[in-house]
Amino acid sequence: MDAPYEIGGLVATLPDHVIICLPILYFCSETMRIRNTALLVFLTSVITACSTQPEVADEPDMAIVWVRDAAEYRAVSRQAYRAATLALPGMIADTSWSALPDQKGAHDLPPAVIFDIDETALTNPYFQQSFEPPFTDKKLNDWSTQHDATPVPGVTDFVTLASQSGVEVFFATNRPCVANDGTDNACPQKAVVIQDLIEAGLPATQSNVSLSGERENWGKEKKIRRDWIAEKYRVIMLFGDDLSDFIPCVRRRNVAPCSEEPATKTSREALLEQYDAYWGAGWYVLPNPMHGSWTSFK
Ligand SMILES: [Mg+2]
Repeated sequence: MDAPYEIGGLVATLPDHVIICLPILYFCSETMRIRNTALLVFLTSVITACSTQPEVADEPDMAIVWVRDAAEYRAVSRQAYRAATLALPGMIADTSWSALPDQKGAHDLPPAVIFDIDETALTNPYFQQSFEPPFTDKKLNDWSTQHDATPVPGVTDFVTLASQSGVEVFFATNRPCVANDGTDNACPQKAVVIQDLIEAGLPATQSNVSLSGERENWGKEKKIRRDWIAEKYRVIMLFGDDLSDFIPCVRRRNVAPCSEEPATKTSREALLEQYDAYWGAGWYVLPNPMHGSWTSFK
């Protein structure tokens, strides 16, 4: 508890532990023939400020903590999958409906939904808090190999319902294919991704999972893979945590088939408005405050 102390007619409110320093300071001032009370108080304040600096602790990354611990994170995720569940029968029945704005004449095609994987179908806060920066895809691949994957809340129930309703389920991730030296496997990461999805209770196969670079023109821009699926299916829903899971050409460094013109904060906002009717009605966004293309536009 702080208490008032009178020093040379000057009343000051000082923390108790500062009082302990006063005799030492006074001795010093006598020795140095410094008798100015104001200067004494000043010196005390300086020492106090120095001695009471808290130790610098590692600040937790609150974005990771939120995804890892918050009931609100789980509620928002369930909310997205609940909205999709409620809309599913109508979007199956309405054969004029597609969640791809430029898909036309798909009335006779069977319905399908497309999921991104990380922070859409699988959630990885424990990887995010454990890896030593900088992030590399290899670190995520190694971690995924060694740990069981966790589904985003709500996804398994929704995928089960969609599958039972005759809807094909696709997973498109930008985890990349990187050949291992000494083997002829051009994409050893695909087995890890499939295993991750299966661990989380999701129906992953060689044919419904695609990675970046798995085929020659399958780059980071997912529109190419969405269009590939749309050749055989009426795509009725998209699920993702990143604007690029829904809309092409939204990155700071755009890649084919986009022009090299970089997206901007303004262009991304304009696209958000342009496709306003899709949010929560065919396009379902899962929360990811930890990483994403948005971080290039802070
Ligand atoms: Mg993702």
